[in-house]
Amino acid sequence: MLKLLIWLAIALAAVFWFRAARRKNSNPPPAKGEPEIESMVRCQVCGVNLPRSEAVMSQGRFYCCPEHREQDRG
Ligand SMILES: [Zn+2]
Repeated sequence: MLKLLIWLAIALAAVFWFRAARRKNSNPPPAKGEPEIESMVRCQVCGVNLPRSEAVMSQGRFYCCPEHREQDRG
């Protein structure tokens, strides 16, 4: 009996998944007006480019990691 319930649950999940997939294909969500393009910054020490949110900033300069920030200070 328990096995039957498990199969039923799996079948229901499959149906729901299939419906969700079909809905997604037939009606794509409208594209957002503002794509999130993150500005890239460059490490002052090694020159690697990285997203601004991941960069370490110090006195208007960007670094890829705290180690390079310390290194640039001298
Ligand atoms: Zn660096």
